[in-house]
Amino acid sequence: MLSFDPEKIALPAGHYINGQHQAGEGSALLVNRPSDGLPAGQLYEADAQKVDEAVSIADRSVRESGWASCPPRQRGAVLRRWADLIASDTQLAQLESLGSTRPISDVINHEIPFTAEAIRFYAECADKYSGDVLPTRDASLGMLVPEPYGVIGAITPWNFPLSMASWKCGPALAAGNAVVLKPSELTPFSTVRMAELAVQAGLPAGVLNIVQGGGAVTGSALVAHPLVRKISFTGSTATGARIMSDAAFNGMKPVTLELGGKSPQLVFDDAGDIDEVAGRILRGFTANGGQACVAGTRLIVQRGIADALVSKLIELCQCFRPGVTWDENSRYAPMIDARQAAKVASVVNSARQQGAEVLVGGERFADTGEGYFWQPTLLSTVSNDNPAVQEEIFGPVLTVQIFDDEAEGLALASHPTYGLCAGVHTKNIDRALRAMRGIAAGTVWINRYGRSGDFIIPTGGFHGSGIGKDLGRQAFEACQRYKSVLIDF
Ligand code: NAD
Repeated sequence: MLSFDPEKIALPAGHYINGQHQAGEGSALLVNRPSDGLPAGQLYEADAQKVDEAVSIADRSVRESGWASCPPRQRGAVLRRWADLIASDTQLAQLESLGSTRPISDVINHEIPFTAEAIRFYAECADKYSGDVLPTRDASLGMLVPEPYGVIGAITPWNFPLSMASWKCGPALAAGNAVVLKPSELTPFSTVRMAELAVQAGLPAGVLNIVQGGGAVTGSALVAHPLVRKISFTGSTATGARIMSDAAFNGMKPVTLELGGKSPQLVFDDAGDIDEVAGRILRGFTANGGQACVAGTRLIVQRGIADALVSKLIELCQCFRPGVTWDENSRYAPMIDARQAAKVASVVNSARQQGAEVLVGGERFADTGEGYFWQPTLLSTVSNDNPAVQEEIFGPVLTVQIFDDEAEGLALASHPTYGLCAGVHTKNIDRALRAMRGIAAGTVWINRYGRSGDFIIPTGGFHGSGIGKDLGRQAFEACQRYKSVLIDF
C-alpha cells in the first residue's frame, strides 16, 4: 500500500546546518502542492548571513572531521550506508511525492532506487580514480595530484529533487569535499530528510548542509561566498548564464552547468515496429509531465512512417489520466505550479497563432481543481521557427515535423541554442552512426530514449545546454582540482 494522506506528513521546513534542523526566520515563502494547488508549507529564506554560517561550518567541518583526509574507502563506506538508508526510508519517499510532481509509485520504483544507486556509484569512485604519473625528463618524476576543492556549492531545480541532489552530493562527497546545497524553493522538503540520513549514515555533521530559499537571495549568496570554491548547478539556461557570470566575478570559481534542452527525436522510415517506437517517443516527452531537461519534444519523422506513427501517438495520448501524486494508482505528473502551467498554455497559444495545428490535447485536464495537470499535446508545425519548436516549454508538448531525406532530417534535428540530447530511431547502423556524428548534442540515444541505470555514462549539454558533465567518472573528477608536481632526483 503506497498511498498516503498528505495532511499527516510533517514537513522539515527549515535549514539543515551542522547536523541540526534550524527553524529559519525572516521572510517566508509559501510552498504549494502541485497535485491540488493547496499550501504544503512554507520555508524561510536564508539570507547572506545564514549562507555564511552554513558555508563556514562546512569549511571547518571538512577539515576538522578528517572527511577530506581519511582513507577514501572510509568515505565510500559512509556513502554506501547513506544509499541503503535512502533506499528504505518511507518518509523520504512521501516527502518527495507530496512536494514535487512525482507520483508515489514512480518515486518508490524509480526516483528512490535511482538516487541510491547514483550514490553507490560514487562510493565506488572514492578509492578507484586518482591522478596521473606524467612522462617527463630523465631523473625527474612528474605527477598530477588530485585534491578536493573544500566547499562545493550545489544548486538544484524542482523537477527531480532527490536524484539531482545525489548527482551533486555523490561525487563531491566521495572526492572529500563538503557541500552546501540549495534545493529549489518549489521543492525544499525532501532534500532536508536526505541530508539527515547522511548524518545517520556516519557523514560528519556540517559536511553536508542544506540552505533554503530562492535564487535571488540564497542562491546568489551561495555563489558569491568566498569559501565556496566551485559551483555545481542544474537549472535553466538563463539562470546558468547568470551563475557563470557571478562565479567569474566572485573568485573566478569553476562551474558545472546542466541546463535546458529542446531535444529532437529523429525517426526514419526503417525505425521498426511502430508501437514500440511510439512508446519510446511517448515516454520521451510525457515523463514527469514533460518537465525533464532531456525531454524529447521535437518529433522529426520521415514521410513514409509519419502518418502511422502520429496516429498511434494520438491514440496513446488519449489514455492519460490525472491523479494526485500521493495516490498509488496515479502515473501522470502535474505541472509544478500555476506559473509553469501558464507558460505551457502561452507557448501552445503562440504556436497556434503562428500556424500550428493541435492534433490532440492542447489544454489542461478538466475537473482537476487547482491541480496543474496538462494534457499530452501534439502540435503539427508548419515552420521550424514556430515558438513551440524553438522554446523549451517544459510541459508534455510534442511538435511534429516531417522530412524526406536524411540531410533534411539532420538539419532539422540540430537546434540553434540547445544541444542536450537526441534520439535516433533506425535499424540502419550506418545511418544511425551518421546521425550520431551529425547532431550537436551531449547525449545521443539510438533506438531508445532516456537515461538508463548506467551511471558510468555522463550527461551534459553542448552550447546553451551547459558546461561539464554530471554522472560518470567525469563528474567525480570535476569535484577535484589537480596539482602539477615535478620532482627532480
Ligand atoms: P531555474 O533556473 O529557475 O532554478 C534552478 C535553481 O537555481 C533553483 O534552485 C533556483 O532557486 C536557483 N536560482 C535561480 N536564480 C539564481 C541565481 N541568480 N543564483 C543562484 N541560484 C539561482 O530552473 P528550474 O525552473 O528550477 O528548473 C527547470 C530548468 O532546469 C529547465 O530549464 C530544465 O531543462 C533544467 N534542468 C536541466 C537538467 C540537466 O541535467 N541539464 C536537469 C534538470 C533540469
